[in-house]
Amino acid sequence: MTNYYGSQVSRLIEEFAKLPGVGAKSAQRMAFYVLKSPQERALALSSAILAARNTAKYCKFCQNLTDEEICYICKNDDRDSRMIMVVESPQDMAAYEKTKEYRGLYHVLHGAISPMDGIGPNELRIKELLSRLSSESLITEIILATNPNIEGEATAMYLSKLLKPLGVRTTRIAHGVPVGGDLEHVDSVTLLRALHGRQEL
Ligand code: ZN
Repeated sequence: MTNYYGSQVSRLIEEFAKLPGVGAKSAQRMAFYVLKSPQERALALSSAILAARNTAKYCKFCQNLTDEEICYICKNDDRDSRMIMVVESPQDMAAYEKTKEYRGLYHVLHGAISPMDGIGPNELRIKELLSRLSSESLITEIILATNPNIEGEATAMYLSKLLKPLGVRTTRIAHGVPVGGDLEHVDSVTLLRALHGRQEL
């Protein structure tokens, strides 16, 4: 990048431009916003980034992001611990939480099987799911809520083959969710329709 603005400002723009979904123009806009803001705003931003990066970890049960060893959902005794909804990302979990209707637990895979991107089952949090099944004997249903695209379907298929022999009921959310879509961008009504219409695998 041409160094129009001095090396430190250029560096800031470059860092913003590395963020997902941020193009060169937006990166510049963000950098200039930070420069125009009072010192405290810049501090708040930089310290929020560092604090989140340093404290965020994965829940030891569901692999959701949390500040503690066990996340607030796994800790909540009012949740129905007989059900686990398997999702690809913490954002997908949040999308289902926003519906305020699902009361079971979750399991976050942190991705989906995608041979093209070099992501196989071992790159996902599948081992952790299996160990929950062997230790939490209360579980009676696993709802596969991976995204309705090629990777999500491949992941659901893989999991259903893995889970069947274990004798646990395995269901797949219905296609109320648009094919090729991303769960986190789907509205609550559609998410609930997909959940209620889930089918046995
Ligand atoms: Zn958890």
